[in-house]
Amino acid sequence: MTAIDLAALRAEGITALLLDVDNTVSPHHSTELIPEIREWIASLGPAGFRACLVSNNWHDDIHDRAAALGLPVIPKAAKPLPFGIWRAARMLGVPRSECAMVGDQIFTDILGGRLAGVRTILVEPLTPSDMGHTKVLRALETAHNGRQTPRGVTGIGRGSGG
Ligand SMILES: [Mg+2]
Repeated sequence: MTAIDLAALRAEGITALLLDVDNTVSPHHSTELIPEIREWIASLGPAGFRACLVSNNWHDDIHDRAAALGLPVIPKAAKPLPFGIWRAARMLGVPRSECAMVGDQIFTDILGGRLAGVRTILVEPLTPSDMGHTKVLRALETAHNGRQTPRGVTGIGRGSGG
């Protein structure tokens, strides 16, 4: 995620980053903050971005993790449904055309972003340790991606309207 070219995104008119939590900004069920990610998140404001977390996580600890990162959070976002992503854009007061959904999973973050009509950025997961149902989706994503597994930012796309 820290490989994202913020200056290029800003130049393209993106002003808000909607960040997945689990395995994008922190490991599963951990309030541990990776220093590099803490610094990257702190750099967003000065670089001209608003940011918030958009997580499918329904556990209470999601609020502790958001507080630790100093960001607002939309929990229980139910990605790939678009509603949580729309709520995040409304909460930040930013039009969808200026939002980018950033996450590590194609079938939640990226599909959700596309359905919500925002820019999407697929990033490499922080850790390979996933919950059971995530592993199934990972297998599907691996099949979908084929041999295209570059490091860092793995794909950038734009949603189709909405
Ligand atoms: Mg994730």
